[in-house]
Amino acid sequence: MSALAFPHTEQARRIGDDERARILADSGFGTYFTDFMAHATWTADAGWDEGEVVPYGPIQLSPASAVLHYAQEIFEGLKAFRHADGSVWTFRPERNAERMQASARRLALPELATDAFLTSLTALVAADEPWVPAPTTEESLYLRPFMFASEEFLGVRASRRVEYYVIASPAGAYFPRGVQPLVVWISDEYSRAGAGGTGAAKCGGNYASSLLGKAEALEHGADEVLFLDSETRTNIDELSGMNVFAITADGRLLTPSITGSILEGITRESVLALAADRGLERVEQRLAMSDVLEQVSSGEITEMFACGTAAVINPIGEFRALGGSWTVGDGGSGKTTLALRQEITDIQYGRIPDRHGWMTRLV
Ligand SMILES: *Cc1c(COP(=O)(O)O)cnc(C)c1O
Repeated sequence: MSALAFPHTEQARRIGDDERARILADSGFGTYFTDFMAHATWTADAGWDEGEVVPYGPIQLSPASAVLHYAQEIFEGLKAFRHADGSVWTFRPERNAERMQASARRLALPELATDAFLTSLTALVAADEPWVPAPTTEESLYLRPFMFASEEFLGVRASRRVEYYVIASPAGAYFPRGVQPLVVWISDEYSRAGAGGTGAAKCGGNYASSLLGKAEALEHGADEVLFLDSETRTNIDELSGMNVFAITADGRLLTPSITGSILEGITRESVLALAADRGLERVEQRLAMSDVLEQVSSGEITEMFACGTAAVINPIGEFRALGGSWTVGDGGSGKTTLALRQEITDIQYGRIPDRHGWMTRLV
């Protein structure tokens, strides 16, 4: 058991009721932040302190803090959903806790126990409860736990002081005008991760190295960038922040097997579980980009999609590369893709029974 309790002493809200209502009416993604944040500090000598829920606001850091120089940082992302009866739930948070522990090991950061991680979410969402949107469409409160090296030291080694925070940001519906298929650019120049690197960890550095590929995608009129494996540049890894799936005409669900350069998405894992229920044959293996494009052209692959917490499931309508473009199916949103998306969101918002025991009540 951890000593982390994240006590919250009643404090005034930063943002008034009227302003909060205005924000919740049109919150977008990642732009507005709540009244409070959870915080805990770890030192090599004393371990984790008790933690605390404090008013949301700027953090004071030494300019010599290790994270600012050597990027020793990890994060997580999950959502709090309000159900019709007013209760507030989250989706498979123990998987986020375990993944954060794995990321911490890779980035030489201290692990936060699963119970402490869950306590930090419960404590913050209890304090910020009015920020959890009503379930009119697909609004949620996005939770962003993160951990970074705060020791004031320019030598290169694992930091002996580390901060853990959870901040929260109301998120509007990801697809306010209905699900929009992605145009995906296949990067032939950049990789997001290499063998033995940090691709399997959820760390800020992976995102920093993906930004140029994403910018290149946008220059080519695409929405997202697909990275291939760095060694052979032939196999599908994933997008900058989403895993990739294909569905075949004969009922197979294909996805790249988890290698050291692919992040193990919790949405990915959940899609695999639901696919089994639907009688789809799951195939996790190396997926050669050229084979996939051939099967897209021949119609053997009928649907493709990307998945992650923010969009849940986002159909892929088209691939682009220097060598041409390939339309998936009719370029729209596939039937099975939309059905899987509907099922996951129905579970998350409590509209259908939680057969897999994936939901945890926060408030
Ligand atoms: C977070 C993330 C995903 C998606 O993971 P979920 O747990 O489904 O949100 C996929 N790829 C990368 C690189 C990520 O950082």
